[in-house]
Amino acid sequence: MRKTITCIICPNGCLLSADVSEPGTDAPVTGAENPRSIDSPVTGTGCPRVIDSPVTGAGCPRVIDSPVTGAGCPRGEAYFIQEITDPRRTLTSSVLVKGGELPLCSVRLTDPVPIARIPDVMKEIRKMKVEAPLESGTVLIRDVLGLGSDVITTKTIRRITAAQ
Ligand code: SF4
Repeated sequence: MRKTITCIICPNGCLLSADVSEPGTDAPVTGAENPRSIDSPVTGTGCPRVIDSPVTGAGCPRVIDSPVTGAGCPRGEAYFIQEITDPRRTLTSSVLVKGGELPLCSVRLTDPVPIARIPDVMKEIRKMKVEAPLESGTVLIRDVLGLGSDVITTKTIRRITAAQ
């Protein structure tokens, strides 16, 4: 099946596309963490690079052995492979604050996590209730759920004093 995605790494927004197969359709992949695979050159805005060795690090052991076109730079092709084999996202949210000038503190992830794990991460964030004061950039959950990303604050919250 032809898959087309827009690269969001930079404002150029190259249109990347390739044939992507699923198990039971064409060329099933064995041993991959993610059953999808890339079967054709990535196309879009004209990059003449050729990949002639196995793609590694994407959780999918497929080989792309034809000229890669489309991505305006190497990052586009890497982005396409990541999106097909192991799509990840970051998220922002907020946590409850006790004793602060505001009742909530905004938080974000330091690194993207697999899309399928976003609801689990949200559950962890919702469990949190932190005490003011808080500095922006404070790590509230280190390596949340072992996904290699920290939950950090993005706002400084002062503590309410008795005089206030
Ligand atoms: S492929 Fe390269 S040039 Fe094109 S949008 Fe992605 S990062 Fe930018």
